[in-house]
Amino acid sequence: MRILLLSDIHSNLEALEACLAAAPPYDLIVNLGDIVGYGASPNEVVARSRELGKLFVRGNHDKAAVGLLELRDFNPVAGLAALWTREQLSKENAEWLRSLPSGPLQIDGLPGVQFVHGSPHDEDEYVVSEEDAVFTLKDASVPLTFLGHTHLQGGFSTDSSFRPQYTTIGQQEICELKLEDGASYLINPGSVGQPRDGDWRAGFALYDSDARLISFYRVPYDVRKAQERIVAANLPQRLATRLTAGK
Ligand code: ZN
Repeated sequence: MRILLLSDIHSNLEALEACLAAAPPYDLIVNLGDIVGYGASPNEVVARSRELGKLFVRGNHDKAAVGLLELRDFNPVAGLAALWTREQLSKENAEWLRSLPSGPLQIDGLPGVQFVHGSPHDEDEYVVSEEDAVFTLKDASVPLTFLGHTHLQGGFSTDSSFRPQYTTIGQQEICELKLEDGASYLINPGSVGQPRDGDWRAGFALYDSDARLISFYRVPYDVRKAQERIVAANLPQRLATRLTAGK
């Protein structure tokens, strides 16, 4: 099975369309949450995600946008964006976001793999360091966990961490990771709409379960247009500038 993994799109329509255009053939899309928040195209991104996705895990920004999470847990910029998103969302899209399940989720016929937003034991937890990962790996009930939330592309295995190494800053690139038998992994496909690893390009991944291969992608997109929309929507300027910084 070939699974296209999308995470942390954050209402960035331009980044989402670029990822879909660059995506290799796949059997299904799994969306790891934070479909909305920060960016200026919430309804368009929800509509596109609903049309294409098969399996969805909710993110903290999806919850905040529909009142399922207290805004005091957010920094002021994120809180403002959540309130703006709440006002923009159509009733139907808001209902759909409200109905999204929390993880971990699994796919019938694909044993040993689970999908979460933050971590398997806490949907809002950030797995950033090797220390976080050791605890999470020890605790995981299956050998392969896909997660989002940190906006950092790469992953952790039982004895090492992995960051894709790319050679350019502006071209489309792919970096592969072959999974070893017997090891456990936490894999983050990267953020489609707001990367935070210093690389502005949209990130996603493809998991080929037969080949036991993960292909990480970085794709240039029309970042200016995404920024213009943010400015035109009167969202905080920082949400536009951070897109080109990749932070
Ligand atoms: Zn996010």
